[in-house]
This record gives sequence, C-alpha cells and structure tokens, in this order.
Amino acid sequence: MPYRGRFAPSPTGALHFGSLVAAVGSWLRARSRNGAWIIRVEDLDPPREVAGAAQRQLATLAAFGLVSDEAVVWQHERQDAYAAALRRLVDAGDAFACWCSRSDLQASAGLHRSPCIAAPSADRAPAWRLRVPDVVVGFDDVLLGRCEQPLAAEVGDFVVRRVEGYYAYQLAVVVDDAAQGISEVVRGADLLDSTPRQILLQQRLGFATPAYLHLPLALDAAGRKLSKQDSALPIDAADPLPALRAALDFLGLPAARLGPAGTPAALLAAAIEVFDVNAIPRSAAIVQMRHGRS
Ligand code: GLU
Repeated sequence: MPYRGRFAPSPTGALHFGSLVAAVGSWLRARSRNGAWIIRVEDLDPPREVAGAAQRQLATLAAFGLVSDEAVVWQHERQDAYAAALRRLVDAGDAFACWCSRSDLQASAGLHRSPCIAAPSADRAPAWRLRVPDVVVGFDDVLLGRCEQPLAAEVGDFVVRRVEGYYAYQLAVVVDDAAQGISEVVRGADLLDSTPRQILLQQRLGFATPAYLHLPLALDAAGRKLSKQDSALPIDAADPLPALRAALDFLGLPAARLGPAGTPAALLAAAIEVFDVNAIPRSAAIVQMRHGRS
C-alpha cells in the first residue's frame, strides 16, 4: 500500500512551534517512506476561526519548504461528505439526536450515557451523538506502543454534530482520512485521546484504520502545552531556519547531524537522509528555541 500522510492544521491562529513539529514530523515520515504528504485545512468551526489564518499558515509552511503534494483539502468544502456519513450512522442506529444540556449530564461527570435525560424538543436543534458501547478501544502507536481507552467510561456517547449545526472534528477527520486514503496519521500527542473515538467511528463507517504515530508535545518554559489561541512561540516565516533546526532537533535530529544548510529545502533534504523514527523522543519536552531573529 502506498504511504499517504497528512498535516491537518485548524486555522484558529498562527502556526506555533508545536504545529511546526507536527508538520515536519509528518513530512519526514512521508518522505522517508517515499509517500505523499497532503495538507488539509480543518476549517469546520467558523466561530473559532481567525480570518486569513489559513492562508497565512499555508504561506508559513511554504516558507519552511513544506508544500502539499496534492491540492489542499478544505473541510468547509466537505460538508456533504460529513452529512452522508452522519446519515449512515443514524440509519444504522449508531448515532442519535440528543437534547441533553450540560446540566443534564452533571450527574455523570459530563459524560453522556444512553438513554437521554432530556426529552426531544421541537423548539431547538439537537446535537447528534455516537452511541458508545462498553468496549476498550486500543491501537499500537508506532512510537508509543499499545494505547487503550475504555470509551464508555472515559468519553461516553460523543458528539458528531454540534447543536450549532457544525460537524465535530472527530467525524470530519475520520471521513477525510478515509476519503484521502491516509495510511498513517502523524500528529501531536495532544490528540492521543481522540484516536480511540476515531477508530470506533472508522469501524462504524466501515473504513480501514490507518497507522498512528503521536509525536511528543512541545511545552513552553513553564511546562504548558503550546496553543494557537495564546500564540505561544509563534514561528517566523521570514526567518525559518532557526525554528526549523529547533523542530528537527526536537524530533531527534540535532544540528550536528545535519551539517550546514542555507535554505529550509536543503536542511529538510539533509534531514531525510538521517531521519530515524526510533530517534524521536517519546515524552513531552520543553522547547529549546531562540526567540526572534538570529
Ligand atoms: N486540526 C487538528 C489541530 O490542529 C489536528 C487534527 C489531526 O491531525 O487529526 O489540532
């Protein structure tokens, strides 16, 4: 099977160092397997989007030498595919409309377990949830090994379409990874606890489960996860080499192994030569990165 990987940023702000690690890590893995690397813009949550962020992210990635091998996929153009998937789940009895409010779920620590507490209402729109059976869903992460989650106990029946009418990330990502023939998902470990939900959805929709590789999280000096919302450690498209070197170092490729390189493309080319998935650290690490221009 040909290797197909992807990088799937949400346009909720500027790319930060953690996004760069996921982009570079997924790119290196695809290149080292002679595979394709595809960018997918996950713009399915308009209230959280920042105007112009998607185009700026794509321009920043290009400045780092990271260009999609195929046309960029935009999730806002994929609504019909998500609707069709939800219809299949509903028709099969695997998804259901739910009018429960947050306070309805308080007694169960915010988790939804069938049956619903709230009655159906003609006055307001429901959320749609996947019915989660009492199973443990597991997978073998390429880097982290066996990961398992008892889905009913820890997640409950989860939302696949929100009250506001937006499709949930969990559903969209599964539909798109399948439609794009993604063979391995490489992303940050902050999404590790989404993977069992995605595997259950793949099973319900009859999709193959790709391989998964979760990269270590980049933490700021205070030990917090970087996020686009607080624009922690934004990366500078005008001066890509220092951040690219820091991202490669973070992925187990220290500068000493890569030699001098005058452009991001040359640095990435050197990195492919020595990339070794087993050299990627397995736990979260503080980002060692100089700020500003060098
Ligand atoms: N869009 C998600 C994010 O930016 C990543 C989705 C994924 O890689 O599965 O956090």
